[in-house]
Amino acid sequence: MTGKVIGRFAPTPSGRMHLGNAFAYLLAWLSVRSRGGEVLLRMEDLDTLRCTEENGERIREDLRWLGLDWDRETPPQRSRTAAYERALETLRSRANVFPCWCTRGSLNLVNAPHASDGHPIHPASCREASEEERARHKTPPAWRLEAPDLRISFADGVYGLYTENLKEACGDFVLRRADGVFVYQLAVVADDGEFGVTEVVRGCDLLSSTPRQIYLQRLLGYPQPEYFHVPMLTDREGRKLSKRDADLDLGVLRQRTDPEKIIGLLAHACGLLDRFEPLTAAELIPHFSWEKLRKTDILLDEEQLNWL
Ligand code: GLU
Repeated sequence: MTGKVIGRFAPTPSGRMHLGNAFAYLLAWLSVRSRGGEVLLRMEDLDTLRCTEENGERIREDLRWLGLDWDRETPPQRSRTAAYERALETLRSRANVFPCWCTRGSLNLVNAPHASDGHPIHPASCREASEEERARHKTPPAWRLEAPDLRISFADGVYGLYTENLKEACGDFVLRRADGVFVYQLAVVADDGEFGVTEVVRGCDLLSSTPRQIYLQRLLGYPQPEYFHVPMLTDREGRKLSKRDADLDLGVLRQRTDPEKIIGLLAHACGLLDRFEPLTAAELIPHFSWEKLRKTDILLDEEQLNWL
């Protein structure tokens, strides 16, 4: 790619940062800093019930403590409703965006949940409702985008080639919920597009969201960033480490250990260093390359966690 690399941290401030988030941010940061690019920070706080300013501030402090700096903070998603409304209008003019009054319960009755993320595939019936049927509803609808019968492929920098037919794998998807809240898929594309993000580094649990996001980028006329979906950290049983494992959140880790040990442990576990050695994020830059990164889930066993 020519031009300046622009990456981002896009935390959801619904709780404390976790070791798994720290791992994805470390790689996002190394990828940008090793090529002299720019890092943006954006609070993904669309979920106004769970996200707080206080959590956002803790995440900023935790990033600083880890030695992961950023060049610019772009507006939080909560403040971007007007931009998302504009994006929705553009989508309406270029594709089929239709009102939908289905509830999760009614969809589950119609269809088996989609294997990858547990979401039922939306039936076409609602898309084909007549104006009279629509007029009968007294409550506001959600707005969905018709999923095209189109195979979307992209070359992920870690995972390799990933392909999905949007109609078969995901079906018509929601852009704005009935309560007026815009969904993550639309917000992330509008934000990354508007702020010129050229590469997206995030956990591979978001791999299956990417074809939807690429389709939205195409409709909105934004260039496609490069994608790197990084492996999950797991325990010995193969369970993904998550917010459940409270002993691995940054609040606990900061009391117990140093940032250099965390960076050294993650760098060793993912293949960037061949032995464990405490070091700063900046000292890791010369050791970074995407080729070295392990491609499969990364097991953190008791012995490794004891290094902290
Ligand atoms: N806000 C999402 C999260 O914290 C990340 C979304 C993204 O990187 O696209 O999991």
